[in-house]
Amino acid sequence: MENRIAQSLKILTETDKEACETVRLLENEPITNKKRLFIESYGCQMNFADSEIVASVMREAGFATTSDAENADLVFLNTCAIRDNAEQRVRTRLKQLNVYKKKRPGMLIGVLGCMAERLKAKLLEEEKMVDIVTGPDAYRDLPRLVEEAETGQKGVNVFLSREETYADISPVRLNSNGITALISIMRGCDNMCSFCVVPYTRGRERSRDPESILKEAQDLFDNGYKEVTLLGQNVDSYKYANPENKNEIVSFAKLLERVALISPELRVRFSTSHPKDITDEVLYTIKKYDNICKYIHLPAQSGNTRVLEIMNRTYTREWYLERIDSIRRILGDECGISHDMIAGFCTETEEEHQDSLSLLEYVRFDFGYMFSYSERPGTPAAKKFTDDIPADIKQRRLAEIIEVQQRISTERNKKLIGTIQKVLVEGTSKRSDQDFSGRSDQNKVVIFPRENFKKGDYVNVLITDTTSATLRGKAVVEEEIIQLA
Ligand code: SAM
Ligand code: SF4
Repeated sequence: MENRIAQSLKILTETDKEACETVRLLENEPITNKKRLFIESYGCQMNFADSEIVASVMREAGFATTSDAENADLVFLNTCAIRDNAEQRVRTRLKQLNVYKKKRPGMLIGVLGCMAERLKAKLLEEEKMVDIVTGPDAYRDLPRLVEEAETGQKGVNVFLSREETYADISPVRLNSNGITALISIMRGCDNMCSFCVVPYTRGRERSRDPESILKEAQDLFDNGYKEVTLLGQNVDSYKYANPENKNEIVSFAKLLERVALISPELRVRFSTSHPKDITDEVLYTIKKYDNICKYIHLPAQSGNTRVLEIMNRTYTREWYLERIDSIRRILGDECGISHDMIAGFCTETEEEHQDSLSLLEYVRFDFGYMFSYSERPGTPAAKKFTDDIPADIKQRRLAEIIEVQQRISTERNKKLIGTIQKVLVEGTSKRSDQDFSGRSDQNKVVIFPRENFKKGDYVNVLITDTTSATLRGKAVVEEEIIQLA
């Protein structure tokens, strides 16, 4: 593990880490007599974490990562199937890769992840250049599938497991800034939201052994990392029963606490929380530890109870707002909250859309990930309902949601002018190498002159200016803080 972290590769930009569906590339590892592997990841943070598992499995099999797709021996696309446009991007990319493959016929192309799981062997028929198709639970089998493909056979493994958590595999930290890392704490999802393909592409929910999670977090901290994000589709339903004593159960609140106790210098984040499951116990655990970030991503999906019901989200608008009120009561107004929202779900009326807008106004989220509904084949919504909201209306509703959210984000950020935020420095700002970029506790990007600080420092920054997306400021020392107080 130590060596692997020590060999961490290049820096991820802020945009890379934040944006959904951003392509992530691997950087070059030293190559001596090794075959070259190029991985590109699409979609959510879980996929990015999975690519780190894949890199680890393939490293054992004698591959080194490269950032040069054109000259790679093996190209993996770790794909997302959440919306149709995510799949279209992969198909466009496959066509580009085929040009390289024609020049270098020995090149193998593998499609991994959710799109592979959704389409299975059909993908081989539809995209002739693909040699390997592997679902999210079959990454241990990749070396065998690659060997098979090297002999000219196509390799497919889309077996979904009830147990696989890759607990014993030390991820290779890819494109890492050396300061922040992702840790998968569970896999799959049992929730069956009617619009969502994840339960079909990632299988049943299972929680990873807490000891392996704690070891991974401790190893990261020992190697200079200062922040870990615990990942799962629904972290609040994390539950691990000790196989030797089934009554000994570790809940998410307990796990969070144990990770926080590794060191007060290690920041802890988590994602995603589910409104039906987030408990006051979790909120009080966040409150108790300064190093658990006061930031919660709580997808809403809609502000209307009827729509939530046909989405099978299993909560009402009132329930969601009660959870928000509890967050504010326990963690205060300064706790960062973000959301996911879907515009134009089947049968959504104008009034119901207005409920989503009024939910944004009530909650005053710091930011949001907002989408128009994209029907996914095989999901309950695709089977039961008609995708009946015309594309132009979906787009207009989405634009309205984005507009309201951006105004609120700007207002929320403006309120921070004159406050001091504790920022963990992640690296140089994209715009100027004279500035550092880091994140506040509430997950806001903060830019400030670098002075003599270094990556990994916690810096108190006085906020002087903001946009809807970023805060700007200057570092202040303790005496200045006392004067300001
Ligand atoms: N597990 C998380 C949760 O419960 O909200 C989120 C998982 S999903 C990868 C991320 C987001 O994609 C969802 O919160 C939802 O807003 C959006 N999404 C999922 N399926 C979608 C679809 N068919 N059309 C549009 N957006 C979708
Ligand atoms: Fe999809 Fe719902 Fe599971 Fe999130 S909780 S991954 S939206 S099924």
